[in-house]
Amino acid sequence: MPLSEASVILLGTGTSSGVPVLGCDCSVCTSSDPRDQRLRTSAALRFQDPDGHFREMLIDCGPDLRHQALRAGLRRCDGIFVTHHHVDHIYGLDEVRRFNALMQEPVDLFAEERTLDAIHRVYRHIFDAAKNLNPSFVAHVRTHRVTTDGSISRMGIRATPIRLLHGKMPILGWRFDAVDAAGAALNDLPGPFPFAWCTDCSAIPPESWPRLEGLRHLFLDMLRPRRHPTHFCLDESLAVAEQVAAKQTWFIHMSHDVAHAALEASLPTGVAPGHDGLVVSG
Ligand SMILES: [Zn+2]
Ligand SMILES: [Zn+2]
Ligand SMILES: [Zn+2]
Repeated sequence: MPLSEASVILLGTGTSSGVPVLGCDCSVCTSSDPRDQRLRTSAALRFQDPDGHFREMLIDCGPDLRHQALRAGLRRCDGIFVTHHHVDHIYGLDEVRRFNALMQEPVDLFAEERTLDAIHRVYRHIFDAAKNLNPSFVAHVRTHRVTTDGSISRMGIRATPIRLLHGKMPILGWRFDAVDAAGAALNDLPGPFPFAWCTDCSAIPPESWPRLEGLRHLFLDMLRPRRHPTHFCLDESLAVAEQVAAKQTWFIHMSHDVAHAALEASLPTGVAPGHDGLVVSG
């Protein structure tokens, strides 16, 4: 049986400050449109694997993870695919303790070396728990180093790292395909596959474009209308959306310079702002 009932849940669509921004009285931060409230950018992938088991995976684990998991009703964590080590993308890792308890299993985390170095440094109490003065309830995380030369296949999904540039810093985007037992992509399956998650980027190097071909959904950084040194702005994101030509592009990692309704009304067909809680299932 191929995997079924798959959906991508946008847990957060905001930039590192979140929206509303603390102490800001601008029209977006005080908007009554719930789509203008953005927790830090992250997503959950929910599906039934080929053996019929219910699975939930995360893309990043930012500081709002506890709130996001409660809001989306997450009950397990069958893998975390990390884009990079910035605070807004990894500072929720402690929260997976609860998934450890519910699943009675460690949580597998996939990231490249630079990101893993930072995670091991920040979370010494997890990875060097023997040095904690008191024995304490810490997360149980199994880290896996990935490179852009390979991909990870598990539970009917293939996750492929995509090199992106976040200013000068090389980071990862992720492409997700549903695959059969032999590893061949099942792109005609109902559901969101294949999709790619490209947050926190300001450039896509030439070798990465083939990994963005044939997408049903592209989740793409779009910080704000004005240019920024480490994030795509509106014009740049629109140009990328046009070049990738996914069936649907969703903007993520937006700042308080973006009013959802006004932006939505201005975008071409096939491009839309994401919002917290959006479920993409087809
Ligand atoms: Zn970020
Ligand atoms: Zn504001
Ligand atoms: Zn970042």
